[in-house]
Amino acid sequence: MPTGPLARVLESIENVTGTATRPAARLLAVGKSREAGEIASLAAEWAGLRPGATLAFGENYVQEASSKIAALEGSGIEWHLIGHLQSNKAVQAAALFDWVQSVDRPKLVAALASARNPDHPPLNVLIQVNVDGEAGKHGCTPDDVPSLAAAIAAEPTLALRGLMAIPEPHPDLARRRDAFAAMRALHDALRADHPDADVLSMGMSEDYALAIAEGATMVRIGTALFGPRQAA
Ligand SMILES: *Cc1c(COP(=O)(O)O)cnc(C)c1O
Repeated sequence: MPTGPLARVLESIENVTGTATRPAARLLAVGKSREAGEIASLAAEWAGLRPGATLAFGENYVQEASSKIAALEGSGIEWHLIGHLQSNKAVQAAALFDWVQSVDRPKLVAALASARNPDHPPLNVLIQVNVDGEAGKHGCTPDDVPSLAAAIAAEPTLALRGLMAIPEPHPDLARRRDAFAAMRALHDALRADHPDADVLSMGMSEDYALAIAEGATMVRIGTALFGPRQAA
């Protein structure tokens, strides 16, 4: 029995998803300034545990990701941008990433759509929602979701895949449940109009079990895989 952090996280995701009627939530491994070598080790461990399945890996910064993605070319990793994206980095992001989870405004939709090479598969896009209405946080308001979704769906170089949220890290987990439940309701409403938008990305190392119980289909996990963050 493999017992490393990756094996434990995968097993725990499967246990909490738990029912035969619902596929296990997908793991997005999150690097947070991990070196390419560490990511390569994780990819090798993944290949042993989940032969043939694609490893999804999340990066916060376009600049930092670009050298790692180049170094890991051919590794079969699917790259997700999960950090805030400035419009002036959209060209680079559209070329480097397979997914952008942080789309939160019409200007960015337009910039990514025109930057994505039409000969490549469409860029997978999640709409980031500021579900707690926190001041100064990225993400659109819940009310903005339908119009942003329509704008994305109208772009042939983009594929609308669902929603993403980073709820307020309230110390009382019960309070986080409200945010997860609100996201699930938003996601259900979105899917009524866009059935292919089947991804709900929410939950991190501390609260992924709760997020999955409330309907997450993708959990973004760093600390539980790599240990506590190193000082930059
Ligand atoms: C860092 C980060 C994560 C992972 O957080 P952990 O608590 O380390 O699991 C998930 N999502 C986003 C957007 C992040 O920036």
